[in-house]
Amino acid sequence: MSTNQGLSKFNPRTRTFKNYDVKDGLQDNEFNAGAYFKSASGKLFFGGVNGVNAFYPEDIRENSHVPPIVITDFQIFNRAVSFKASNSPLQKSIAEAKALTLPYSAKVFSFGFAALDYTEPAKNRYAYKMENFDRDWQQVGTSRTATYTNLNPGRYVFRVKGSNNDGVWNEEGAAIQIIITPPWWKTWWAYALYMIAGVAALAGFVKRREYALRKRTRALEAAVAERTAQVQTQNERLEAQAHKLQEADHLKSNFFANISHEFRTPLTLILGPAEQELDKAPEETSKRNLQLIKRNAQRLLRLINQLLDLSRLESGKAQLQAAPRKLVEFLKGLTMSFASLAERKRIALQFHSQAEKLLVYFDQDKLEKIFYNLLSNAFKFTPEGGEVIVDCGLGNADFGADRAIAIRNLKSAIINVRDTGIGIPADRLPHIFDRFYQVDSSSTREYEGTGIGLALVKELVELHHGNLRVASAVGKGSVFTVHLPLGKDHLRPEEIIATAVKATRVDSGFGTADFGEMSAIPIRNPKFWRSNNPATRPSFSSSKIMRISVILFGAIWSRRTKSSKRRTASKAGRMR
Ligand code: ADP
Repeated sequence: MSTNQGLSKFNPRTRTFKNYDVKDGLQDNEFNAGAYFKSASGKLFFGGVNGVNAFYPEDIRENSHVPPIVITDFQIFNRAVSFKASNSPLQKSIAEAKALTLPYSAKVFSFGFAALDYTEPAKNRYAYKMENFDRDWQQVGTSRTATYTNLNPGRYVFRVKGSNNDGVWNEEGAAIQIIITPPWWKTWWAYALYMIAGVAALAGFVKRREYALRKRTRALEAAVAERTAQVQTQNERLEAQAHKLQEADHLKSNFFANISHEFRTPLTLILGPAEQELDKAPEETSKRNLQLIKRNAQRLLRLINQLLDLSRLESGKAQLQAAPRKLVEFLKGLTMSFASLAERKRIALQFHSQAEKLLVYFDQDKLEKIFYNLLSNAFKFTPEGGEVIVDCGLGNADFGADRAIAIRNLKSAIINVRDTGIGIPADRLPHIFDRFYQVDSSSTREYEGTGIGLALVKELVELHHGNLRVASAVGKGSVFTVHLPLGKDHLRPEEIIATAVKATRVDSGFGTADFGEMSAIPIRNPKFWRSNNPATRPSFSSSKIMRISVILFGAIWSRRTKSSKRRTASKAGRMR
């Protein structure tokens, strides 16, 4: 049948058309309607705008020729590449080449190809594919070139197939292997170089770091050494200072001890004659004066003795001389020796003991000082109408965590000295055992004192391996509690002087004072207690009293010289 697009052959079996146009030799593509004819011989006639076409249909045969496919052309950057040129990637003509090696820089290249069928070359069709890059065949119709850009380095195969004008394909087609070499910086040796450079850099970094660390360590070591040297010199300086301080302390203690000794001798020389004169003095005035001399000399002596005791304890020269003694009897005697003072001050004095007998290893002289001081304070700080109670009993020791377990678990004698006096403020309590500490240390204070007593008491209690506690409430009173371990397990052999002593008595009478090593005349003789009543107490300072005592003593002494030359001579000798 004719159309205005050429002639068409219809196959009713397959229901397909095959078209023929001007390229197949027709007069034109345009045919006229109705201008057709079939002759008796079977020849067909079709008229068109340019004439008539006549043919026998059986003469029209299909082109079954399978066209060979060849790659005809190769271009890089749109320029044909000849195998003849120097540096050409082609060794032979592209049609014969089986493989092609291209540099990475040949970014754009193209192939030209052809199907060798000349029946109707313009109708030959093509398809190509770059294996390893294209997934599918690129159907390019009658186009005869293929262009690729920017292929990665690697191996590829370029395949092209084609068909003749009748669609008979040469499936095998033509192929050429293409190798795109990587740039130098992507080659294996470049990678090897990178690796070596990386390893070298890492090694360099490690070395550098090691060096820096070593340098830092050396600097630190130097700094430490310098600091150590500084600390050492500082230590040496401190040691030297400590040594100097120790020496100074030693000198001070010695000075204290010596000066106290020096004070004690003249004081005893004042006291002895003053007492004797007091016994004889007929007039009331001289009696009063003599009493004054005696009392103040006593007070000075007590102070000096306390200082001596403290310096001895401090230097470690004080040695406990414990012996088994009856504690209850001893305490009762000592308490009762304050009876007359209690009466004078209108203070109720009581003594209680839960146990009838308590055998305790103690140093009588030192325990006297302990309780004398505690009782003296109780009387001093309790106003008229108050109470002072001493009670003792047995109990578990309370030696705190700072003592050895063996000592902490000991049974102990517990002695409380209670008063209903002025009490001590809670914030002052931790300090009252400090040397020279007084709750009221103002110059206008009501109560006399030096702040040595309790420090001495604490040291003496600790010398007994005991413990001293205090509880107090302002305006209600104070309780001083002494714990003394029972038995002798806590004592060192050199601290025990005897194994058994029958009874212990407190010498609380009046009479000649005993000036023993750690003696305390007022302890033994409460008669010397000086009243705090301002009416009867002149407000002299110790140094004034000392001066007055010496003057008075000088006056008395000169009187005595006349009556007893021999005695004066001997005493004057002792004074010197
Ligand atoms: P002092 O020579 O001043 O009495 P102590 O060492 O014996 O020295 O006492 C120190 C201070 O503790 C005293 O000044 C006093 O303020 C206070 N103190 C001691 N015992 C008592 C007490 N029983 N009641 C109230 N205060 C006390």
